[in-house]
Amino acid sequence: MRIDSLLAQGGNGKDAGTGAVSFPIYQSATFRHPALGESTGFDYSRSGNPTRQVLEELIAKLEGGRRGLAFASGLAAITAVMSLFRSGDHFILCEDLYGGTYRLLDQVFRPWGFTANYVDTSDPEQVSKAITARTKAILVETPTNPTMKVTDLRQIRRICDEHELLLIVDNTFMSPYLQRPIEFGADIVVHSGTKYLGGHNDVVAGLAVAATEELGEKLAFYQNATGAILGPFDSWLLVRGMKTLGIRLDRAQENASAIARWMSSHPAVEQVYYIGLDNHPGREVHFQQAGGPGAMISFTLRDAGKVPETLSRIKMISFAESLGGVESLLTFPARQTHGDIPEDIRRRCGVNDRLLRLSVGIENVHDLINDLEQALA
Ligand SMILES: *Cc1c(COP(=O)(O)O)cnc(C)c1O
Repeated sequence: MRIDSLLAQGGNGKDAGTGAVSFPIYQSATFRHPALGESTGFDYSRSGNPTRQVLEELIAKLEGGRRGLAFASGLAAITAVMSLFRSGDHFILCEDLYGGTYRLLDQVFRPWGFTANYVDTSDPEQVSKAITARTKAILVETPTNPTMKVTDLRQIRRICDEHELLLIVDNTFMSPYLQRPIEFGADIVVHSGTKYLGGHNDVVAGLAVAATEELGEKLAFYQNATGAILGPFDSWLLVRGMKTLGIRLDRAQENASAIARWMSSHPAVEQVYYIGLDNHPGREVHFQQAGGPGAMISFTLRDAGKVPETLSRIKMISFAESLGGVESLLTFPARQTHGDIPEDIRRRCGVNDRLLRLSVGIENVHDLINDLEQALA
């Protein structure tokens, strides 16, 4: 099956006893054993739950990995991945990383003895230069959030091979519908399922996919041992949301392309960051590893003073944190998603007080443009 069929068919046929097309929500904490030493395959829902398992098998298949694991949030998934490492280990990360991932590494794991360098991973030379004898892994987002820098996954894989490092890719922005990093050598893919996979701004969830059985076993151990699992109902919401991922993204991308073109000639807008635009510097590399530009647009206003006004004048589009849902959202990264990143790093990667980020939804594109037009007027 191709990916859109895999998505639409998620969970169908998996409940053999009933034939349920929509896989049921197994809202049970524990499971009866037929006899001593016998099991249905489930014993306690932290260790495994049928509804969560459907989601986990689905995301593993979509990403082309061996094992998928579902967590209470994207950050819980990243925490489980970080559990693979030990005090003294060093990491290289892209500098315009999601703010919550930065906060986790800097304020939780740094005090535990993890060290990290934040570099522009779109430049492999900077990555190579940052490697030390203690480096264990490289974590990238591509395209980055919010300034849409593109990292060449194949090149980073080569660097990882030379130095025996793990390559971890946060694929939240693209989703497996557009980009499957394991095909380009990623060892682990993580997701905030809250975004495109869930797609309806109604569930917080995280996923991790391991490329190998061995890594999958280890992550499953930490998932069970640390316990930040996704509950049955939220697992069901995610499977349900993912059924329409393909058509949602097709429509959102189409909208985003039209909005980005319109915005590029708007007098109040200084710069538009969108991979679908011809002048985007990472375009060529991006389209070697991804099937579309995605539906995230960042842009700077000429006048920082116009930011508060724009955020309060926007009507149909919501001024809110998050992305990837059917409803369009406008975010002010410097204060919201990236507020925890130190100002010097933020400046270096262009997250300034004139930058706004638009997660384009599936509404009618004319309504979206009209709303932006009246807000920017
Ligand atoms: C939102 C987000 C996260 C964190 O996920 P949560 O589900 O909010 O914990 C991680 N990475 C990226 C790129 C995100 O956008």
